[in-house]
Amino acid sequence: MQAYRARYLFPVTSPPLRDAVLTCDHLIRAVGQNVSGKPAVDLGNVAIVPALINAHAHLELSEFAAPLGDPARGFPAWIREVVAWRRVQAQSHSPEELANRRRAAIHRGELESAAAGVHVVGDIASSVDAPQPLHVPKRYLFREILGLRTAREEELFQHAQNFLKSRQGGVGISPHAPYTVGIDLLARLAKLSAQRHVPLAMHLAESAEELELLRSHSGAFYALLTELEAWDPAAFPRGINVLEYLKILAQGHRALVIHGNYLTSSEIDFIAAAAEKLSVVYCPRTHAYFRHSRYPLVELLAKEVNVALGTDSRASNPDLNLWNEMRYVADAFPEISLDAILRMGTVNGADALGLSRCGDLRENAYAGLAIVDLPDDDATDPHELLFDARSQVRSVLAPK
Ligand SMILES: [Zn+2]
Repeated sequence: MQAYRARYLFPVTSPPLRDAVLTCDHLIRAVGQNVSGKPAVDLGNVAIVPALINAHAHLELSEFAAPLGDPARGFPAWIREVVAWRRVQAQSHSPEELANRRRAAIHRGELESAAAGVHVVGDIASSVDAPQPLHVPKRYLFREILGLRTAREEELFQHAQNFLKSRQGGVGISPHAPYTVGIDLLARLAKLSAQRHVPLAMHLAESAEELELLRSHSGAFYALLTELEAWDPAAFPRGINVLEYLKILAQGHRALVIHGNYLTSSEIDFIAAAAEKLSVVYCPRTHAYFRHSRYPLVELLAKEVNVALGTDSRASNPDLNLWNEMRYVADAFPEISLDAILRMGTVNGADALGLSRCGDLRENAYAGLAIVDLPDDDATDPHELLFDARSQVRSVLAPK
């Protein structure tokens, strides 16, 4: 057991403490007290915050030095770039080489996440050969299910079932998006999620083109899916809307609505009413990359929706640094309190993933801690010091 003294502790679910001590081994034993029986290690001018939770990423796409494509051409054109990239990869590498590359990319993403103070990543895996996670960060692994053609429904459902049988704990299922997963398959996956008590994660209400496809079986996604020979008019009825998808997701154990960039007021009301099941994951800089309409963050928070933060992948984001996402939100939404932003990057992510002992500093929670170097100034609200441009995540402490 060890005690640490810091200029500030940010427990998140209780007010910040100045010049305070935290005692932990693998669990937090005391907040504000040294119960270790020996002197505290003085960390100096730092803040101790709960290690961050990146609720949505695709670590297997961590090899990109810069985001893919040209965002001005729209989201479906970006999806076309990702598909083309995957095809070139498949043609130019043996399956073994591909698996090695994927593993290397995942490890790169893990190391980058850990350096940014991230303790848990809600990671989407497109294949079953994902490597064993490192100690930090923990990867909460969602098996991606993708294939719109109704003829593939049974095969894809089996993939999900087999994945859940092959792994224990920290797993979920990700029906990719409405334009890649038919409505009947989604309903089966939601039922599976409820039976197995695992979360779902689905990209939903992400782009205007997705809504157009749902509304009228037309537009840029229709053209792309037809070109890829992936379109199936039986996958979902024309005129269906996002609310129908939310109703199905709410039948699962719990679900993460990834993005939700274009959620309407009535859809936000539905999510708020199903708050024990549904969370929304906002990916701020990916949202900005695609120049979507203004994110409905103020309305989501006003209705007490649980909003977590994600980086999405390096294919649409310059890095995997969740701290940078939080700073971005602070700049883009000055009307939102810094305390609410800290929650989004910590305890809200834990709630979204159903992790009851992560995301805040309290007795018996896991001792995943991020240490943040603070500037020398004073501020009336310590959150201002925490989110100051000069503050830096120094390290993440995660005793075994
Ligand atoms: Zn994503």
